[in-house]
Amino acid sequence: MEFRQGIGVSPGIAIAEAFILDYEDVRITPFRQDEGPEACHREVERFERGLEAAVGEMQAISERIQEEVGDAVSSMFTGFSAILLDKKLKDDIVQKIRDNRFTAEYAVSRAFRKVKNMFRAKDNEFFASRLRDIGDIENRLLRHLVGEHGAGLKHLSSPVVLIAKDLSPSQTATLPRDKIVGFATDAGGRTSHTAILAKSLGIPAVVGLKAITSDVSGGDLVILDGSKGRVIVAPDATTQRDYRARRQRQIEFARGLDSLRDVPAETLDGHLIRLQANIEYPHEIPAALEKGAQGIGLYRTEFLYGPDQPNPTEEDHFEAYSSAITELAGRPLVIRTLDLGADKFLPEKARHEANPFLGSRSIRYCFERIDLFKAQLRAIYRASALGPVSIMLPMISALSELKKARSVIQDVVEELQRGNVRIDADIDIGCMIEVPSAAIAADILARETKFFSIGTNDLVQYTLAVDRTNERVAHLYQPAHPAVFRLIWQAVAAAHRERIGVSLCGELAGEVMYVIPLIGLGCSELSMSSSQIPTVKKVIRSITMRDAKRIVERIFKLSDARETESFLRERVRQIEPELL
Ligand code: PEP
Ligand code: MG
Repeated sequence: MEFRQGIGVSPGIAIAEAFILDYEDVRITPFRQDEGPEACHREVERFERGLEAAVGEMQAISERIQEEVGDAVSSMFTGFSAILLDKKLKDDIVQKIRDNRFTAEYAVSRAFRKVKNMFRAKDNEFFASRLRDIGDIENRLLRHLVGEHGAGLKHLSSPVVLIAKDLSPSQTATLPRDKIVGFATDAGGRTSHTAILAKSLGIPAVVGLKAITSDVSGGDLVILDGSKGRVIVAPDATTQRDYRARRQRQIEFARGLDSLRDVPAETLDGHLIRLQANIEYPHEIPAALEKGAQGIGLYRTEFLYGPDQPNPTEEDHFEAYSSAITELAGRPLVIRTLDLGADKFLPEKARHEANPFLGSRSIRYCFERIDLFKAQLRAIYRASALGPVSIMLPMISALSELKKARSVIQDVVEELQRGNVRIDADIDIGCMIEVPSAAIAADILARETKFFSIGTNDLVQYTLAVDRTNERVAHLYQPAHPAVFRLIWQAVAAAHRERIGVSLCGELAGEVMYVIPLIGLGCSELSMSSSQIPTVKKVIRSITMRDAKRIVERIFKLSDARETESFLRERVRQIEPELL
């Protein structure tokens, strides 16, 4: 049994066999059904047949390449066959089959894991660059053992915990939800879009584990605790029992919270907070309403761009927005204009930028591609005739950008009016506060916009100069940093002075520890992954606004993020330990 600590980004406990993406990409059954020397013998023979087929395949490739390209490349494949035929490796695999009731594929996976770890330990560029090759050789052998029907996520027949180096947001969005009960990755940070999607999809997830792909073999039993950020490899029977009981308690606690669905998010002294949901796709709306969302506070429209739809048209936008409006049946919908770039790439935009988070992302990219921006704006205005929507502009860093965006919007409105298209020309236009310059100069922006929505995911990253997706600096990504609280406070105060709406839609809004200070700071609207709404409502209904304000006064006197975090954690523990 081994413990690994990463960053818990989506709560819940998953217990299942591991499926390794990237290297193996096949489903591995760890143990043979039949016992006894006969069964063992058959398994060794099966391995030998698989090995022969894999070596044959490598030789065929090598010969073909020699004819087409010559010796230099073909010798690489001869080298691959030599690795497969290595006596020590072969003996190790056979030994594992004989000693442990392992299936051939599990023995292969375990033996190759040992080889890969040896290569990694060399800390040498030559060996590091060979790792991919070793993975490729292993994968070919496994496919001969398991067959194509066992390869890839599509063919999974029972639930697994997915283990990967990294997952892109679009890979995450298309995971087969009924087969993937959790995922763990080497890379990633607390508010990467992959992490956010996991939460929206309700898949327990741990990221930033650094080396989980080398710590687990396909078929190993793993426990993944998304709340505590922990992965346990090959847990013993007591630990399994303990976690199954823990999972049951969590399920029952969550069921209890569901009863809060129709009661208001109101503090004990009568202050109402509006709770909304963040979505990536309109089809998430029914589940969000089921959790008690009063509307959609952030629709991340850039997810319309995906592998299946690289260039959505105005009609594609319109269809998505009208279906969202229909689902919401009169509840508000805040449509954020395209926030493409950084970790949400357009395929055609996958050109290299040295610092993509500081590059042509979001509103900056929209100004580069006015055609895309206008197509989206036309669709939003056409949809505005169908129900209440507002527009939210991302990554505004200066008044000039806000004015420029408004002038493009004005052009679109006039074009539509000239064409006699039915629209609501007066919909609210708000801006996100997710760059320090916007928070510091919030008083200037507040005079020119109808509402603010504070995007703490980016605000934390840009304030503390910490890449939100990078596990190496994840420990420095500290939302409780005094600078972050001061910036939120400045933005909220500016909004209050100008009497405009102010919401907070970063992941912080759904983190129990931060709910009290956020409402104490004056955020009367919180928008979050819908799965968090019941827990957040529970916290709000357990405190008074007076207490929340006192807590804010107290944390403004603390100078260290860790001190603030443990203070806030303790407050939540006093309300209900199960919330943490
Ligand atoms: C944010 O930055 O807080 C935000 C809500 O936007 P996104 O996570 O999509 O960048
Ligand atoms: Mg953002």
